[in-house]
Amino acid sequence: MKIITVVGARPQFIKAAAVSREIAMQRSFEEIMVHTGQHFDANMSDVFFREMEIPKPKFNLGIFGKTHSAMTGEMMIKIEELCVSEQPDLMLVYGDTNSTLAGALAAAKLKIPIAHVEAGLRSFNMTMPEEINRVLTDRVSKYLFCPSESAMKNLAKEGYNTLACKVLNSGDVMMDAALYYSKISEKRSKIVADLKLSDYGLCTIHRAENTDSAERLNQIFSALTEISLEKSIVLPLHPRTRKFIEQYKIETKNIKIIDPVGYFDMLELLKNASFVFTDSGGLQKEAYFFDKPCITMRDETEWTELVEIGQNVITGANSDRILKAYHQATDQRVWPQGLYGNGDASKKIVAHLMEQI
Ligand code: UDP
Repeated sequence: MKIITVVGARPQFIKAAAVSREIAMQRSFEEIMVHTGQHFDANMSDVFFREMEIPKPKFNLGIFGKTHSAMTGEMMIKIEELCVSEQPDLMLVYGDTNSTLAGALAAAKLKIPIAHVEAGLRSFNMTMPEEINRVLTDRVSKYLFCPSESAMKNLAKEGYNTLACKVLNSGDVMMDAALYYSKISEKRSKIVADLKLSDYGLCTIHRAENTDSAERLNQIFSALTEISLEKSIVLPLHPRTRKFIEQYKIETKNIKIIDPVGYFDMLELLKNASFVFTDSGGLQKEAYFFDKPCITMRDETEWTELVEIGQNVITGANSDRILKAYHQATDQRVWPQGLYGNGDASKKIVAHLMEQI
């Protein structure tokens, strides 16, 4: 059985790492890894493949730095060629990036069945490129693996139980990755000691809705700068955010800005942090896996269950709301566990595919 897996961006490398380990255990499966090139630099791509021992990409399409349509279109053309030459039995895609959509559409047109890991998530904001990608990918997929009960409900509301596809609550493969690699990162990463960090907040900002708006980015940094007067904040900075901070001449004093880090360093930064500020999808959940309060600087989230249990507070890019959430969130609490499964999502996914294909 031949599987083509398409990955292109940081969160997909982490998800693919978890599932690929399971696939590798099944002798009847051959996985061909295709890297679209969306994230290409050493600390946004290579380090993930090296640390997590993800199968080396057989093909690297080298597509980056273009408009959404140019990227998606070029990826589709190249993925179609690969599908024709490799004749896979299944296309495996993750999450909600342009690489996800390109892999899914190219396969759909060739009538190759598609498995979508992280199906059913919705922000209900169709101006987000991620929302467009995930809605369309779900619709052409044959196997939809949801990470949570709320993702299952979203698909049910959209009528997926009447469509010719299989929907399964597998749990979240990011939980598998976090649990598995955390045992290794503990021994290998020295980042917390090297940066001499104690009692700090971990922050990431990269989403287009924030980076592409001077007003939003100013509001976020105004709050972070104020908080950093009393508590350290460490910010592994995405290159896109760096570019806009420079362009808008935003003040970042006191905030410890570092280059993007590999997953092992990220896990250790997270496990030792007192709280998290982010607009990342993945980090919101990882904060929950490790019992950290999370302040999400977006206007909505796909991980609504985390807001319901109070671990996650949505503040938008509003300085006052970020400050209020920070002051209310500093007490660490224990939240209900198990919202995203038990760390065996990859096992369930691969077992299901083995039965079906
Ligand atoms: N991450 C990382 N290093 C960083 C920033 C993020 O390893 O410098 C990890 C983070 O822990 C999470 C994933 O990358 O697992 C999330 O990626 P990102 O925030 O880019 O994407 P999103 O989840 O929003 O799609």
